Amino acid sequence: MPVRRTKRGDERTPLEGSWDVVICGASFAGLTIARELRGSGARVLIVDRYEIGERQTSACAAPTEWIERLGLSPSIRQTFTDLVVHSPHIDTRWRLPWSFSTFDYPELCNLLWEQCDADFETAKVEGRVGAIPPAGVADDGDPVAVETDRGVVEAPLVVDCLGWRRVLDDGYQPPDAPLSRGLEVHPAGTDDDLEIWIDRDIVPAGYGWNFPARDELRIGVGSFDPRFHVKDPTVKLTEDLGKPPEGYQGNWIPHRLREGTARNVFFCGDSAGHCIPLTAEGIRPAFYFGIACGRELRAVVDGRRDRAAALQRYSDFNAEHRWKYEWMLRVQKLLPKIPPRVLAPILRGVAVESFTEWSFDHYLAIAPPEFAGEGEGETEARREPVAA
Ligand SMILES: Cc1cc2nc3c(=O)[nH]c(=O)nc-3n(C[C@H](O)[C@H](O)[C@H](O)COP(=O)(O)OP(=O)(O)OC[C@H]3O[C@@H](n4cnc5c(N)ncnc54)[C@H](O)[C@@H]3O)c2cc1C
Repeated sequence: MPVRRTKRGDERTPLEGSWDVVICGASFAGLTIARELRGSGARVLIVDRYEIGERQTSACAAPTEWIERLGLSPSIRQTFTDLVVHSPHIDTRWRLPWSFSTFDYPELCNLLWEQCDADFETAKVEGRVGAIPPAGVADDGDPVAVETDRGVVEAPLVVDCLGWRRVLDDGYQPPDAPLSRGLEVHPAGTDDDLEIWIDRDIVPAGYGWNFPARDELRIGVGSFDPRFHVKDPTVKLTEDLGKPPEGYQGNWIPHRLREGTARNVFFCGDSAGHCIPLTAEGIRPAFYFGIACGRELRAVVDGRRDRAAALQRYSDFNAEHRWKYEWMLRVQKLLPKIPPRVLAPILRGVAVESFTEWSFDHYLAIAPPEFAGEGEGETEARREPVAA
């Protein structure tokens, strides 16, 4: 178990007051939103139950171009231009049109934090206090009060970036909610390939993975069915790869887009179901929707919009993505139904370079890196088009 670095005992002083913006959750979504507010002059508070970067929440693989554009390149541990896909009847290698990189979670979070000028406090968010306006009631602009284990903090602009629980709304409970489950281990070791396994012997609906990160491997299993336990399959896959199953890390993963706003609160990242179904890629969308949300908040603190307009615009932006998420969910539901013998020619077909390029470019367009702006300049993450 990682050692908890959060404040304890006498250090755990009361935390109360008003801010212009309160961001609950200091991981990918929360820190990206705070980054958008830098230099605005707004008083921004971020709260998280752990210190920034203390508790890794994923295998930490994301499109390289996103990491570069956000100025986070020093956190990159390993970069991959291919994806190796194993299945019972065939192993295929897909040459990707753009690369994925694994990164160091604490380092990436701290690099994001260096780009913010917000206040940070460790506190556990318990929920909302005071009367919660029913859905559909016009926005009166009143501050939203958030209860933490150190006191009540409030702001007119509040964002829930607390992950799948959606603490500041009605909550969300497995196994009935549309959630997948994921578990991984982090043994020491090196490898060259980013690998996934689509194999019913490992997990009936889902996939296994091995994401190398320079000196450690992130080996895990994700199940689209929340009732299927992934511990034994994770241990087996790890042992089959000749590694000890140590350094566990797991969580629920939402696989359905939710409302971007509710009761005058913004939701971003897993709390809004931004993790992409089928692939369970949630970091890139947390960056993407985090930027969108941060821009709306920025317009309010700059006096260019009121809160009601910002809530509506962000909600609309979120909803525009619904059809893409529903498509990915359809494929997620279809994949486990495909018999292994039929899967083999499909995987071979995807491996055809022109198809890989077409499909992965469409997939990247769900949350394109250009949205982050210019970043660090020309990127090497996208390889040159293949000559005809
Ligand atoms: C095993 C596993 C592997 C994964 N691998 C990948 C991957 O390689 N690439 C990828 O793109 N996606 C991956 N994902 C999905 C990805 O981790 C999530 O989609 C992503 O972390 C969502 O970011 P977020 O900022 O919304 O939430 P999170 O990263 O979950 O952050 C939530 C933050 O809120 C804090 N918090 C939670 N509750 C409270 C509370 N009550 N009070 C105070 N603070 C609280 C947490 O400490 C945390 O800092 C993986 C998921 C799992 C489970």
